Amino acid sequence: MQKKILGRYGNERGHWVGDGFPVRSLFSYSDFGNNLSPFLLLDYAGPYEFTPTAERRGVGVHPHKGFETVTIVYDGEVEHRDSSGGGGVIGSGDVQWMTAGNGIVHQEYHSPAYAKTGGPFRMVQLWVNLPSSDKSAPAAYQTIISADIPSVSFGENAGSMRVIAGSYDGVKGPAHVFSDLNVWDAILHQGSEVTLHFPKGHTCAIVVLEGQLIVNGAETVGSAQFVLLDPEGDTAALQAAGETGFLVLTGEPLNEPIAGYGPFVMNTQEEIHQAMEEFRSGKFGDIS
Ligand code: MN
Repeated sequence: MQKKILGRYGNERGHWVGDGFPVRSLFSYSDFGNNLSPFLLLDYAGPYEFTPTAERRGVGVHPHKGFETVTIVYDGEVEHRDSSGGGGVIGSGDVQWMTAGNGIVHQEYHSPAYAKTGGPFRMVQLWVNLPSSDKSAPAAYQTIISADIPSVSFGENAGSMRVIAGSYDGVKGPAHVFSDLNVWDAILHQGSEVTLHFPKGHTCAIVVLEGQLIVNGAETVGSAQFVLLDPEGDTAALQAAGETGFLVLTGEPLNEPIAGYGPFVMNTQEEIHQAMEEFRSGKFGDIS
């Protein structure tokens, strides 16, 4: 049964995160609550052309607690360091999956090599909530390079879909996750069609980054827009009106209270105050 389209959303207004990330926030838990659970927020950075610089562009040391940040780079290079000892540079096609868990501090910059040359920049940062029982998980960091992400073909040069987390058609993604969820990263070539199959009962969003998709023959979804699909039903028919890159997010909703403040996402206000106090007193550690 085809999933119903619950709505189409987008955001034309951007803002800068530090001086390295010109983003549009396509969704946030403050607007969608548990309707996209376990996904909390999606920032789409770029496309943007950076000039060469010898300076460090990005965001300096800041904390997170209670969820995971997933950074998918399409163009440019991002360098990360955190208090769990995690770090590294990721480039086009690579993914960083950082578990803030019980508290982390990190920094996110353009890599020195990319800053020096400048050029096109495009990435997504997705925030994935942790079940309350895992908000105390130790902070951790996974580097997932492009070569380790398996891909499912849509057939006959129609395009393909990388399985970053979860699985599709028996192909498993490399990310270690804490709840039942899928993150798929697809390309559908102009004029091609595909029918996707989804787990029943999952929240579901199809996020168009570049190009244009016609969903279920009914809704045209352009760049930096997404459709929210009904958890009921298990298919969606996609048609690319242009060379189209899109993300598919599905998950078993956590259905737990969400209390968020800036870089912290917990279940109660009391836990938020506690997180702020822990950060202030240095409990999240340092970047060595
Ligand atoms: Mn951060």
